[in-house]
Amino acid sequence: MAKNEIPYKIYLNENEIPKQWYNLRADMKNKPAPLLNPGTLEPMKAEELEAVFCKELVQQELDNETKFFDIPQEIQDFYKMYRPSPTVRAYCLEKALGSPAHIYYKFEGNNTSGSHKLNSAIAQAYYAKKQGLKGVTTETGAGQWGTALSMSCAYLGLDCRVYMVKISYEQKPGRKEVMRTYGANVTPSPSDTTNVGRAILEKFPGTNGSLGCAISEAVEYAVSHEGYRYVLGSVLNQVLLHQSVIGLEAKAALDKYGVKPDIIIGCAGGGSNLGGLIAPFMGEKLRGENDYRIIAVEPASCPSFTRGEYRYDFCDTGAVCPLAKMYTLGSQFIPSPNHAGGLRFHGMSSILSQLYHDGYMEARSVEQSKVFEAAEFFAKTEGLLPAPESSHAIRAAIDEALKCKETGEEKNILFGLTGTGYFDLSAYKSFNDGVMTDSIPTDEDIAASLAKLPKVDK
Ligand SMILES: *Cc1c(COP(=O)(O)O)cnc(C)c1O
Repeated sequence: MAKNEIPYKIYLNENEIPKQWYNLRADMKNKPAPLLNPGTLEPMKAEELEAVFCKELVQQELDNETKFFDIPQEIQDFYKMYRPSPTVRAYCLEKALGSPAHIYYKFEGNNTSGSHKLNSAIAQAYYAKKQGLKGVTTETGAGQWGTALSMSCAYLGLDCRVYMVKISYEQKPGRKEVMRTYGANVTPSPSDTTNVGRAILEKFPGTNGSLGCAISEAVEYAVSHEGYRYVLGSVLNQVLLHQSVIGLEAKAALDKYGVKPDIIIGCAGGGSNLGGLIAPFMGEKLRGENDYRIIAVEPASCPSFTRGEYRYDFCDTGAVCPLAKMYTLGSQFIPSPNHAGGLRFHGMSSILSQLYHDGYMEARSVEQSKVFEAAEFFAKTEGLLPAPESSHAIRAAIDEALKCKETGEEKNILFGLTGTGYFDLSAYKSFNDGVMTDSIPTDEDIAASLAKLPKVDK
């Protein structure tokens, strides 16, 4: 089929929504490093993890071998409310750039949570319900994850307690109201409702909070209350597994038109959308069937891939979580209040960290003002108001398309448009007012934070 017959939006049929999640780890020769018990430094056992996480999710977390997991019918039915999501050919953006590149994006913002987070939220809530739990606790940064989880818990009749990073709680009061509408209990973090929150407040009075702090608080609440477990919106292997629906759909859509992406781009906070988007493509790359250039894009203010170290570290500031081996800036690192709340995590998925370490993907960091220039350009050309997080991927896609303009290459670029920016208008305001600044940590800042990492010889 001629390339110009590709529609603006490639929709799959409802019955083409994936019926199985794809577990990328099954095709990795070097498996991601296991979570360690911080006390014994031995790999966490299922029983230990089950004190914090739902049973079935623990199995998914620890399974490096099973290639496909059936998606339970109830989750498939929920997916039908907002999936399949469109794969869009960005004709207008290509034209505005004057680039011969063919740009595609997979749009995950078509649901009330405004992001891809709902794909994993419904799965995690489903397994909690199946286990007969009363409720779940979690953290949220930008608010998308908290919203997605609130929606899922409301659907299944579970209690939902959200610790929201304080700066986001203040910047995005609208988000809180959406979560409360779905029945969630929302607390700004750090708070005085947990021991770890009180300790952090004492040590850093006036702190804006961070995802790391909020995670510590949510875990403490879950393990100290009967019938509750903790759920996490990114970073974990299970979350990347659920998010594989993004990549499976995108690949099925492009395959219909015989399009093979040369470059695949995603923003990277904890790595779940990127891990999901690239999953089937990376699988082919690992099996030696096809080659793709894969690029992770992170904020210059929180550059875990590009300036962090590949080490064991805590996933949270309060050091109550297991140790994960990942590219990290140090669990004590509190990034400056960048507007891409969803990318302010100090570490990175262990799966992506291993793949990056083994040279299967690239990473770059971009400054916030450059990200918003790309966001504005995209909004004006493609009509969608992108989330600041997603705009990191837009920035890199535009930069790659501009390179094609110089070389005249007709490359296929696929990027993940993870969400919409309607709750990020204070960020857009600061950009429109011309007062947006770029805060980039110094080498000394990062070294000081890394010096506090636990010493683990693995
Ligand atoms: C949470 C979020 C991200 C970053 O999280 P990952 O786990 O790295 O995917 C990106 N975009 C949006 C819109 C988000 O809500």
